[in-house]
Order: sequence, then C-alpha cells, then structure tokens
Amino acid sequence: MIDLESTIRNVPDFPKAGIQFKDITTLTKNAEALKQTIDQLAERYQGRGIQKVVGVESRGFIFGAALAIRLGAGFVPVRKPGKLPAETISEEYELEYGTDKIEIHKDAIDPGEIVLILDDLLATGGTLAATCRLVEALEGKIEEVVTVIELIGLEGRRKIARYPYHAMIAIEVDE
Ligand code: AMP
Repeated sequence: MIDLESTIRNVPDFPKAGIQFKDITTLTKNAEALKQTIDQLAERYQGRGIQKVVGVESRGFIFGAALAIRLGAGFVPVRKPGKLPAETISEEYELEYGTDKIEIHKDAIDPGEIVLILDDLLATGGTLAATCRLVEALEGKIEEVVTVIELIGLEGRRKIARYPYHAMIAIEVDE
C-alpha cells in the first residue's frame, strides 16, 4: 500500500501568493498510486446503486471517469461556463473576490437517479455546494460527496453539511 498523501506535491504560492497548491499530477503519474486511489474509491462505492458519477472540472474528470467505469455507472461532467454544448443549467458560487459559475447539461441526470459527486479537493466548499445544487435541480439523489483531498481549516464541510461527505486524505490548509 502506498501512502497516497506522500505522492501529492505541495506547490507554494500557486496560482498566487499565500496559496499552498495541492498538485495531484504527482499522484496520477504514479501508476500504483493512481490504481490504489481508484481501487479504494471503487471499494467504498460498489454495491450502493450509484448510476451517475458527477465530476467537477477539471481534476474531478480524471478520477470520476475511471471510477464510473469501475462502478458500471455513467460519468457526468460539471464545467465552467460556455464549455458544454447543449442546454445547461447553472449555479453561481462565491469566490474570495466576486463569484464564479458552473454548469451541467439539463439532460445529464434523470429524476431519482443515484448520484455520487466527486472532485479532487474540498477547500472552501463553494464549488461542491454549487454542484450539489445542480444535481438537486435535476432531481438526482446525492448518495455522497467525495474528494481525494480535504483541506482542513477552511470549513468547507459546513457548506455541504446536508450531504454525507468522505475525504480520502485530510491535509491542514497551511501544511
Ligand atoms: P472550493 O470551492 O474553495 O472548495 O475549491 C475547490 C476547487 O478549487 C477544487 O476544484 C480544487 O481543485 C481547487 N482548489 C482550491 N484550493 C486548492 C488548493 N490549495 N490546491 C489545489 N486545488 C485547489
């Protein structure tokens, strides 16, 4: 077993001063670490009736699609505005300064479908809270929200407190 946390690279001051960026490309380039990540996720979620894995642009796509295949589920991308070609719905969320928006195709989830929401990292929780609102708007049933990394200290969990949440790795925000 690999210590997955040790495969994640910390890049100080990216994309701006003061941010400790958790770089998962050092995990994904490691064949064993990548396989172990997907194996652990598949073990947790198989047998739970998940029909759609919703992955958030862009690092959520990497793990989300691989996991969906293992679960026999479909994969649904949530994207930044203007990227999805067909009819979409959108949700705004707060950034440190201003707001941002994410979108999902209107026909991506059928009412009542069991959905797992996945991203690489939970920081303030704004992105995943908005993703939950998109899935709720399409009447998907959120089985769980999962991230590879949880940044502890930003209270991200609070924003998605209505849903079960699981993180594979917890890292203090300034670590
Ligand atoms: P948030 O909405 O604040 O929870 O931010 C989550 C999104 O921003 C995720 O999609 C992450 O990929 C990205 N993100 C935020 N902070 C970091 C960080 N320190 N290192 C790497 N990615 C981050």
